[in-house]
Amino acid sequence: MFIFVKLRDWAPLALAALLIAASFLLPDGDEAALPASAGAPGGLPTLIIDAGHGGEDGGASTAGGALESAINLAVAQKLDALAGLFGVETVLTRDSEAIDYPAEAETTAQRKRADQSARLKLINSVPDGVLISIHQNFYPDSRPAGPQVFYADTEDSRALAELTHANLLSALSPESRRVAAPASEDIYLMREARCTAILAECGFLSNPTEAALLGSDGYQMRIAAVLLASYLQFFTQGELTAT
Ligand SMILES: [Zn+2]
Repeated sequence: MFIFVKLRDWAPLALAALLIAASFLLPDGDEAALPASAGAPGGLPTLIIDAGHGGEDGGASTAGGALESAINLAVAQKLDALAGLFGVETVLTRDSEAIDYPAEAETTAQRKRADQSARLKLINSVPDGVLISIHQNFYPDSRPAGPQVFYADTEDSRALAELTHANLLSALSPESRRVAAPASEDIYLMREARCTAILAECGFLSNPTEAALLGSDGYQMRIAAVLLASYLQFFTQGELTAT
């Protein structure tokens, strides 16, 4: 029974990974039979990874002072590395805690605006992109916990968010009753990005137990693995199961 439960929980993710692995094992001739779509080699859209905050904007922080921006970047870099293993093209909106601000941006607010607008320009310049923005949640009460995925009002965003959210809950927080939800209008990148776009709040820095997990390499890797598996599952299921 234990094995059955474990298998059931991980089945969608394992299936996605296996389908992708199988596609790499096909001889060249058979691979050509897979329906191709525009964009990155292999027909997959370019994965745009946005590590939320950075530079002068640390985002939320744990009681111990660990910054959201650093955790977001650590998850983003793990996601980028895993994506590379699967041949998925990636674009990162930042790859460092330091951000180069334009000289004319003098105040913190101006610098943050300049950074957000540079990220949006990059995101909207990718011809066939899918945006995953990585954040950590915070609430004044220390009890709330668990991931939650939000979606933009663009094609496929809601479906990708619901799949990713279900996978995150299944893998990391099965007792959570949260659901995927539309991104608030005041989240600039979610409002202005033209591509499929989701924002993953991976967990609550205000919950001490979850904050400790979110700061660990192992848990960050699990989050990254679920994000990538969800992306692969979403963008390959129609193609690979058809062969
Ligand atoms: Zn944030």
